[in-house]
Amino acid sequence: MGSFCCCQAWRIRYKEEGKKDLGKRSVCLKCGRQLKWYENVPVVSWLVQRGKCRGCGKEIGAAEILSELAGIAIFGILGAVSVSGLGFCIVGNCAYSNRNFLAIGVLAVLLVALLILAIYDAKWGELPTRLLVVGIVLGIGIWAISFSTTWGWGEGMRELVLETLGAVGILGGIYYLLYFFSKENLVGGGDWMLGVAIGLVLQDWWLAIWVLFLSNLVGAIVMLPQRKKKIAFGPFLAGAFVVVLALKWVILGFKP
Ligand SMILES: [Zn+2]
Repeated sequence: MGSFCCCQAWRIRYKEEGKKDLGKRSVCLKCGRQLKWYENVPVVSWLVQRGKCRGCGKEIGAAEILSELAGIAIFGILGAVSVSGLGFCIVGNCAYSNRNFLAIGVLAVLLVALLILAIYDAKWGELPTRLLVVGIVLGIGIWAISFSTTWGWGEGMRELVLETLGAVGILGGIYYLLYFFSKENLVGGGDWMLGVAIGLVLQDWWLAIWVLFLSNLVGAIVMLPQRKKKIAFGPFLAGAFVVVLALKWVILGFKP
């Protein structure tokens, strides 16, 4: 998944720059040579070749191995929490096992989109709008599954709507205000849309606060020493989202 996401980020970039697609099989971006299968094994090939192309000897780049490791981390966490006794209730509570199963499926697709967005943002400092829209649509899908569990239960329905408005407001709203008032100097135009997608899945204002806090804290620690004016928040938002989702029940345990 990580390898696939990095590849997709490059393809979107090439399309956006009007360059021609390099073909179906993976190639070296420096010399254009098609890769053999053993040069394409995630993580292992990069380590064996010490980050260099076997043909031209030029650097492959850090994004490739980092995204493969991120894929292992994200889907490893998702898988571990899903099969653990903790129960992984995306929607409602674990009583709705079929609908949770469906929601986890949609979430897996959303995580693929988030990883592509994070890689793209880290490399080129922007977020492709079309993919953000896909993320929001998938978020609406998960929210709709959640909504279906409250059917005919007025209080639960009201709570879900209010909590989701809180989460979307905190993540989407605050990033939109930052974007709007800094005239795109502080955060990019796509971050608030990413916040909306994440808020739709979290469906809880307290979890949203944690994502906001974690992403800004880690983002500041990593980016401030580099003294860059504009921070690519995408990777930090997506990363904080995965951590908060995995620790959902722990964090909800001390919700005020
Ligand atoms: Zn090469």
